[in-house]
Amino acid sequence: MTQTAPGTPPRADDGQRRFASLDPRTGEVVAHHPVHGAAEVRAAVAAGRAAAAFWAGLGFDGRRRRLDAWRRLLVRRLPEFQALISAETGKSADDARTELALVVDHLRWAARQAPRVLGRRRVRSGLLMYNHAASLEYRPLGVVGVIGPWNYPAFTPMGSIAYALAAGNTVVFKPSEHTPGVGVFLAGTFAEVVPEHPVLQAVTGFGETGAALCAAGVDKLAFTGSTATGRAVMAACAATLTPVLLECGGKDALIVAEDADVAAAARGAVWGGLFNAGQTCAGVERVYAADAVYDEFVRLVADKARALRPGGDPDADFGPITTPEQVEVIRSHVADALERGGRAVVGGAESVRPPYVGPVVLVDVPEDAAAATEETFGPVLVVTRVADADEAVRRANALPYGLGAAVFSRDRGEELAARLRCGMVSVNSVLAYASVPGLPFGGVGDSGFGRVHGEDGLREFTYAHAVARKRFKALLDPMTYERGSRTIKRVLRLVRVLHGR
Ligand code: NDP
Repeated sequence: MTQTAPGTPPRADDGQRRFASLDPRTGEVVAHHPVHGAAEVRAAVAAGRAAAAFWAGLGFDGRRRRLDAWRRLLVRRLPEFQALISAETGKSADDARTELALVVDHLRWAARQAPRVLGRRRVRSGLLMYNHAASLEYRPLGVVGVIGPWNYPAFTPMGSIAYALAAGNTVVFKPSEHTPGVGVFLAGTFAEVVPEHPVLQAVTGFGETGAALCAAGVDKLAFTGSTATGRAVMAACAATLTPVLLECGGKDALIVAEDADVAAAARGAVWGGLFNAGQTCAGVERVYAADAVYDEFVRLVADKARALRPGGDPDADFGPITTPEQVEVIRSHVADALERGGRAVVGGAESVRPPYVGPVVLVDVPEDAAAATEETFGPVLVVTRVADADEAVRRANALPYGLGAAVFSRDRGEELAARLRCGMVSVNSVLAYASVPGLPFGGVGDSGFGRVHGEDGLREFTYAHAVARKRFKALLDPMTYERGSRTIKRVLRLVRVLHGR
């Protein structure tokens, strides 16, 4: 599953269909990659299965050494990796560097914490089973299929890949058709530190290649992408009872309470909503600002957002919209909001200049407009005036999505955070949870289920294996046909003493 040189024709001499990944800033071809069909995907999964015993057999220490070596290699080749991410997504060098900093931090955490979180440990056997020793460990599933999006082509799939590998699985990764080179780079660098077997492989192509991975007999499928595709992936995996992890879209809210540091909230909203051109699953899309601070907040947000400029040059604040389809979604959300009485205090319909979209800040948008309810995935902030933080919580919880959220409040941050129906909350900052490797990342409702990162993220790629070992004969043993009625009476007496009062 290798990368071919730029300029390769769509169908090469070997009969392999190929496709081009393009630089969204210029439309130039970055590289051509094979379109892997169902047979090739099945072959990759079979090779991964053959490699699984080797990788699991290295144990936690052996795997940690290899994963540490991979991390160091990725850091050494960071400029090359950053340039590739920027070329395939158009994102600025600094946005790509930020993404990679998080990748290596998570890789280190997963490799180091795996033995503590997953290794066999004793469990208290309880008073009724005092004559048994109980223990538990979390074992690798085998081969994990990973399907990733284009917006964070390294960070989002590595949330699954790093944790699945640290847990002892092999991985077959299908990157987005817009960022295949990133997948090939990850698999290629990994093969430099683990040359013996194909422990991490990349298969490239379009949606059909992803669908083939769902049907190829992997032991778990970890999907990150839109909610619509997540539904299709889950339906496909149901046919083979393949378990799924779904990291889907969001419409994350930021709450500005009456007692917020308004300047900090404005800084957070502008960065959380606009960095990476707003193409962030857990980016800020909706803001609910309490009446008492609304005017000042909107003024500060507008001043900051107006100063930002998209572009493909090194001085630009953020890059282009990576896919032409996404530009149309943004265009339609902005147009619909303006037609329905919304006002643009920064930018407007004219901000959409493909492949770039300038900052847009909308106010007075009707509650049921697409810009307020559906994922826009662009540099667009919808700011809504609410009576107070309590109304903000109610509005934030009103959508089927539930990925992340942010709360700005001097005194009520944790209390408001606890009332939000979503997977992660930052208090007085934005997206902070994504940078804490020990915290699980994932959503509820239409944002999916299952977790990457943290202890939950390691266990996600394992199954629990429990053992209860009898150490000596018990005085009372109700689990045998020799027990007699007196044994049961005595056990019940004990149960009454232990639990009846
Ligand atoms: P898509 O859902 O369009 O695609 C995601 C992946 O699924 C791609 O690799 C795609 O391949 C593949 N795919 C497409 N069709 C199928 C199919 N039938 N079976 C299996 N795989 C398929 O998402 P985007 O790439 O557009 O990414 C943006 C979305 O991802 C946003 O909604 C965003 O919120 C979400 N996201 C969620 C995150 C989270 O952690 N919750 C993090 C980052 C993004 P191809 O590209 O080749 O068509």
